[in-house]
Amino acid sequence: MLINCPYCGPRDLSEFTYRGDANRTRPADTSTDQAAWNAYVYERVNTAGDHPEYWQHSGGCRSHILVMRSTLTHEIASVSLARGQKKASARRQQKKRPARRRQEDRT
Ligand SMILES: [Zn+2]
Repeated sequence: MLINCPYCGPRDLSEFTYRGDANRTRPADTSTDQAAWNAYVYERVNTAGDHPEYWQHSGGCRSHILVMRSTLTHEIASVSLARGQKKASARRQQKKRPARRRQEDRT
C-alpha cells in the first residue's frame, strides 16, 4: 500500500505509523466529565467503508497526516496534513528564504 505524503510524495506503508482514529473528539483538557473521557478513550466506530485515520510519516518527514482509507478495500481516497495547510505553506515559505549572508558580506 502506498500513502501519498503531502511533502514527500508516494511512499510505502512501512514508512508510516498509524496514529489512530480521526473520528474522535478529545474533551477539553480541563474537562472532568468522566463519560466524555470514557467515550474518547474506549469507544470506537467500526466503519465498513471510508474511514478517517491519523498517520505519521515516521520514516520520512515526520509530519502527521489525515488519511481517508476504505476499511473494505484499503483504497485511499484522500491525504492531507492533519493540522491543515497553514503550516505547510509556512514551511514552503521558509525554504524560499535566501541563504544567510556570508560573514564578509556583513561588514
Ligand atoms: Zn513525508
